[in-house]
Amino acid sequence: MRLIVATHNQKKLKELERILAPLGVEPVTGEMVGIPLDEVEETGTTFEENAFLKADAACRQTGMPAVADDSGLMVDALQGRPGVYSARYAGEDATDADRIQKLLGELREVPAEQRTARFVSAICCVFPDGHTVTSRGECPGRIGYEPKGDNGFGYDPVFVVEGGRTYAELTAAEKDAVSHRGNALRLFSLRLQEDLKSKD
Ligand code: IMP
Repeated sequence: MRLIVATHNQKKLKELERILAPLGVEPVTGEMVGIPLDEVEETGTTFEENAFLKADAACRQTGMPAVADDSGLMVDALQGRPGVYSARYAGEDATDADRIQKLLGELREVPAEQRTARFVSAICCVFPDGHTVTSRGECPGRIGYEPKGDNGFGYDPVFVVEGGRTYAELTAAEKDAVSHRGNALRLFSLRLQEDLKSKD
């Protein structure tokens, strides 16, 4: 089955491909089927709402099942910020480096034991008949004092997971095994498998 993936993020697409390949599900982008997806405003206040908004719009536009992920970083010392605003945390045109610098700045006075955080990923797949398959995954960690590692994207260089390395110091396979998106996708793939079986 081909599944439209509502993202422009090539690294997210690759993560999806690695995890969904065993299911025989092929993630494709709008561009790949000749329908560039419209930009969707993320007006939801939860990861789940935003994932649904993006998947629903892509499904309506293409007439194909569409999946979207909404994810972000919740920092305990910032009462869960940046949360659903993780992408826009340092303004619309900011870079990953800008967002990391802003985060480290906000946490400058915060001691090690209070730098706990978690990444959250909500996944939603909308089918043309309107039914949905959803999942949520999390990964606990803490915010480091300086960026470390060259892999991954986004806040990866400052997100320290169990064992002391940042997401950016893990290989892609190591990140998949523990990450919020990996956890959400593994649950999603189980639920998708059940959903597809129930339609046989
Ligand atoms: P969105 O889910 O595309 O809206 O992205 C939310 C924000 O969280 C972006 O700024 C991403 O860089 C960040 N983010 C989401 N997943 C990850 C990840 O696995 N590592 C680092 N940053 C992430």
